[in-house]
Amino acid sequence: MKLYFRYGCMDSSKTLRLLADANEYTERGEQVLLLKPEIDSRSEQGFIESRIGLKAPCITFNEKDDLLNLLLAVKEKVGIPQCILVDEAQFLKALQVVNLRMVADRLGVPVMCYGLKSDFQGNMFEGSKALFEHANRVEEVKTICREKGCKKKAMYNGRFKNGLPVFDGDSVRIGDTEGRAEDSDFYYVPKCSVHFFQDLLDYEKRRKGEN
Ligand SMILES: [Zn+2]
Repeated sequence: MKLYFRYGCMDSSKTLRLLADANEYTERGEQVLLLKPEIDSRSEQGFIESRIGLKAPCITFNEKDDLLNLLLAVKEKVGIPQCILVDEAQFLKALQVVNLRMVADRLGVPVMCYGLKSDFQGNMFEGSKALFEHANRVEEVKTICREKGCKKKAMYNGRFKNGLPVFDGDSVRIGDTEGRAEDSDFYYVPKCSVHFFQDLLDYEKRRKGEN
C-alpha cells in the first residue's frame, strides 16, 4: 500500500484536508485511525482539530515510539483500519517514517501524512525530508503569499516577532499564524520566495544596525 505526504505552508488547510479525507472513509462505513505527535501543543491532546473547529479523536505518540509496534498493537486489539492518517508529520523522526513505510507495506493499509515541508529558515524538517525520501506520492497543499497584493504561491513560513521578521532561534517553536497565535507577538506568515528573502534582507540590515 502507498505512503502519502501532503505538505504545505502554515495555514494551508492541511488539517482540514486530513479530516475531510478521513470523513470520506467513515462515510463509506470504513474505519480510520488518526495519529499525531505529542509535540503539537496547539490543540487539545487526543484530538486533531482544524482551525474552523472540526475535530476528531486521535492517538498521540512521542518521538521514541516505534510506530510499527504501536500499530501492530492496535491491530491485535481492534483490528486494522482501512486508512491511517498522521497530522503534523514534520515532527516525525526519520525512523518513524520508515516505521510507517513498513506499516503501509506489511499491514497493507494506506498511510497519509500531512505536514509542513520546511521550518522558518527554509530548512526541511526531519520528518518531511524522510517523507520525501520514502513516500510513494507527495502532493502540495497550496496557499498564497500573505504579503499584501502578492498572488504568488507561498513556499516558506516566515517567523515574526513584534511585527518584524526573525531568522534566528530554535527550529521547532510551536506557533500559529497572525491573529491566531496564543503569543500575539510571535507568529508565522506564509510567504513566496521573493517576499521571504526580502524579509531576510530586512532582518540582516536591522541586525547590522543594532550592532
Ligand atoms: Zn509574495
